[in-house]
This record gives sequence, structure tokens and C-alpha cells, in this order.
Amino acid sequence: MRQNGIHHVTAIAGPARRNVDFYTRILGLRLIKKTVNFDDPETYHLYYGDEAGQPGTVLTFFPWAQATPGRLGVGEAQETVFRVPEGAIGYWTHRFVEKGVSHQALAKRFGETVLAFKDSDGMRLALVATPGGGSEPAWSHGDIPLDAAIRGFHSVSLLLEDAAPTGAILSDVLGFVEIAREGGLIRYKAGETAIGGIVDLRAAGGFLPGRQGAGSVHHIAFRAPDDAAQAAMVCKLAENHRIRTTEQKDRNYFRSVYFREPGHVLFEIATDIPGFAADEPLATLGQDLKLPQFLEPRRKDIEAVLPALA
Ligand code: ZN
Repeated sequence: MRQNGIHHVTAIAGPARRNVDFYTRILGLRLIKKTVNFDDPETYHLYYGDEAGQPGTVLTFFPWAQATPGRLGVGEAQETVFRVPEGAIGYWTHRFVEKGVSHQALAKRFGETVLAFKDSDGMRLALVATPGGGSEPAWSHGDIPLDAAIRGFHSVSLLLEDAAPTGAILSDVLGFVEIAREGGLIRYKAGETAIGGIVDLRAAGGFLPGRQGAGSVHHIAFRAPDDAAQAAMVCKLAENHRIRTTEQKDRNYFRSVYFREPGHVLFEIATDIPGFAADEPLATLGQDLKLPQFLEPRRKDIEAVLPALA
């Protein structure tokens, strides 16, 4: 069956080491790839996910020690939401209190229990209790019990001037359909995709535009199974929406095109193949600094400027 949905979310962070600590030690995600920003090789590109980094579980960061905080506004992702098993919300609330993580009181959204919180850069995140999630595989490492561990993305929400043009791209090109509305949110879902299958749109006309910085989402990548499916999506964008993407870029673990959707959020379409085991074994994902072939000749210089992570 064809799987659509979120492939990965990429955000901007402050100091790299603090970012690694938060996502591996507090949230218990696996650091699945330690590489550099291919377009700016003196900056890390850190990937966190489940054990294998399957599409729909991967949150990535460009950490910059000097990054100034972003300011949320229209044309941006508002919140990035993870799934946890239904009985685990109490565990997480307790954990956030204990670890001093800034969080809000439990809320209900579309009938689901939501625990909103922020990372060490003020990035807006949330956990949603998901029925049945406890039987799915997860990365259980350190002190988080397997039956409470994060099970990939639930959704992202976008803050937009006007929801309709972005909704048209989600439904015509990216495989989503509108399934519900509640309190200013319009929910889109990608077929039967359980992990990373939801995008919520919030129209907030009149808000200031966002300013990207630490804690801001840089872009959201959507899934294409392979190159042919991606090419078909690129065609639809051009023919039905007059949107041109970049040329395809080889990101080693997936192949990508990028475009600004009509609400100004940067979207990417990334292939599910070849995946994160393309250049290192599954068992040791994320341990060594991996560079694409074209940067290997510069490895020494790159390693010299990257900050230590532990
Ligand atoms: Zn990306």
C-alpha cells in the first residue's frame, strides 16, 4: 500500500550538545545520523528517530551555537507532535516536572489528549496519547520504559494567513484528505498512514509573519515512496498549481525536491529510499560522523570546526 505523510521535520537549534541531550536523554529518541548540513558543511545536521529512522519518525536539526531565538508567526510550523501510547501521558507529565521541561496542562484536541511542551530552544512540541501505540516498535534506551516511549510523529500544525491554498496542495499533491475541523484547526490525514499521517492547518490572518531562529521549524518533508512517485508529484505541482520545485538533491538517505507552498512554509518531498542504513549498519547508526562522498576530502577541516557532542 502506498504510504503518504510526513517523512521528516527539520528545525533550527542552539548549541548542538544541548540539543543532543534533550532529544536523546529527555525524550529518549535515537540519534540515528550524525552528519553535516550538505549546503553548509561546517554545521552539524543531527537526525533523531526510532530504531531504524523509518519515515514519519525523524526530527532533524541544524544546530548553531549563536542562533538567536525565532519568533512564531504566520507562514510557519506552529507545533510538532509526537505519538505516545495511550497510558503513557501521566508518565511523561511526571517526567517533564522532574526534568524541569516547560510544559502546559493536558488539553483535548479532536478528542485526543495532548501534552504540549518546549525543548531547550523553545521549540513548540507536544505528545498525543495514541490507542494501540504500545504494541508498535520503539527505541527504548536509558530510563524510559518501552511502553511509554515515543512512537514517531503524530502531526505537525501550520500557522497560515489562509488555510485553503495550502490545503489544496496537501490534498491534490501530497496524498492527504480533510477529515475534521475544530476550533480554528482543519485536520488533514494521509490515508491509513498511522505514523506522521496528520497535518493541522490553523488560519490566523493578520498575524505577523514568523522570524526563523532557534526553535523554529526550517522545513517539513513529505513522503514519496520512490523517484517515480516524487516526479509525479513535481508534475502535479507544476501543472495544477504553477509551483516549481528545486531540482532533485541527493541527501544520501533520501532524494529531495523543495518548494515554498502557497502559505510560505518550506516543503520538501523526500523519497523513502534508500534510508539511514545506506552508509552505516543499523546497530551503530549515529555513532560516527558520516559525510557524503563529495565532502570526504574535507573531513579533517570539517571535524576540526564541529563542536564536541559529549
Ligand atoms: Zn529535509
